[in-house]
Amino acid sequence: MKTISILGSTGSIGTQTLDVVLRSEGKFQVAGITGNKNIKLLEGQTRMFAPKFVAVADENLYNDLKLAVSDTNTKVLCGIDGLCEVAAYSKNDIVVSSTVGISGLKPTLAAISAGHDIALANKETLVTAGNLVTDLIKEKGVKLLPVDSEHSAIFQCLECGHKPSKLILTASGGPFFGKTKKDLEKVTLKDALKHPNWSMGQKITIDSATMMNKGLEIIEAKWLFDMELDDIEVVVHRESIIHSMIKLSDGSILAQMGEPDMKLPISVALYYPEREIIKNTDFDFLKHPNLSFYNPDEETFSCLKLAKQALKTGGTMPCFLNGANEAAVALFLDEKIKFTDIPELISNAMKKHTPIVNYTLDDVVKTDLSAREIVLDLIGG
Ligand code: NDP
Ligand code: MG
Repeated sequence: MKTISILGSTGSIGTQTLDVVLRSEGKFQVAGITGNKNIKLLEGQTRMFAPKFVAVADENLYNDLKLAVSDTNTKVLCGIDGLCEVAAYSKNDIVVSSTVGISGLKPTLAAISAGHDIALANKETLVTAGNLVTDLIKEKGVKLLPVDSEHSAIFQCLECGHKPSKLILTASGGPFFGKTKKDLEKVTLKDALKHPNWSMGQKITIDSATMMNKGLEIIEAKWLFDMELDDIEVVVHRESIIHSMIKLSDGSILAQMGEPDMKLPISVALYYPEREIIKNTDFDFLKHPNLSFYNPDEETFSCLKLAKQALKTGGTMPCFLNGANEAAVALFLDEKIKFTDIPELISNAMKKHTPIVNYTLDDVVKTDLSAREIVLDLIGG
């Protein structure tokens, strides 16, 4: 039996992780769960999984959560320190990092420092502090198991044991594939929240619509698989059946395929190095007779270009890009800016950042705050 803690248990990945735990029939024991605002769900999860810890990131909700679970044996924690305590709990075998945004960074570092393996959904952890995270992973000798479907696909392909000459990330293209810059001027929040293939949290859904998600995933792939930008390609594949591919030196392409369902990459990470045994999951090729592939349109979806530029610049620039993107997406979700303002704001903000090459955690925190402030300044907020 593996003991797991889930950072962000109330989210899309977190709840699907708990589904995997439920259907495992006792292969996993949940030691800790965390959320930010949704204390009703945290209460329900506490009753169902009887974890040792439940933590709420928003400190204002601590007393309400404590009262709600006062009849249980679960210890209630709060704030970033509470999340770090859950992450570092000595009995954890694996910590699922699935909060959204840079909020995942410190708790994930705490889990690695404590020597726990990580199932990583929170790509922002690697985007903002790739160097620090991978150095600590090496120092502590823990495993970093990708949950992001593309990276899980590559991880599975790499089990062939050969060094890839290229990584090929597939992208659905999001809800606005094929649209022009002019079309994008008119899209609404509701349009942007309608992803064709995946049901996910709001922030990543908007990132998929702008294609920033694929940009962040290139940066994530660089750190996970130690590959250079020029060796990471993106191909738009509308059906999201091929989750990503690797190319070997002899030209052979290995792909991982399946229906779009995050429970598969979550299971691959949780059960690693074993595989989950599920009945009745035959893939029906006849339901997918046509798989299509296109070049990404980086002019219209310029977030992809900005992310590549940030990775090329290096240092704290990817962290700055991420902070600016989080701020711009939050403004778009609040309907304070237009969809097309997102890349515009990020690009203008990036011009104001002088990257620090050999950064510390303190530099990362400061860079993130400065990106957010600059975006707010740019809109006159
Ligand atoms: P959701 O928005 O559904 O969930 C986010 C989780 O993080 C919730 O538990 C939320 O708590 C918590 N949270 C929000 N803000 C904070 C904060 N400031 N501090 C601590 N916790 C916080 O997101 P997803 O599950 O969709 O995504 C999570 C991560 O996984 C992201 O990094 C995303 O890019 C990545 N990912 C997601 C995929 C998906 O299919 N959803 C696929 C691949 C990667 P609460 O709900 O209580 O407010
Ligand atoms: Mg992905």
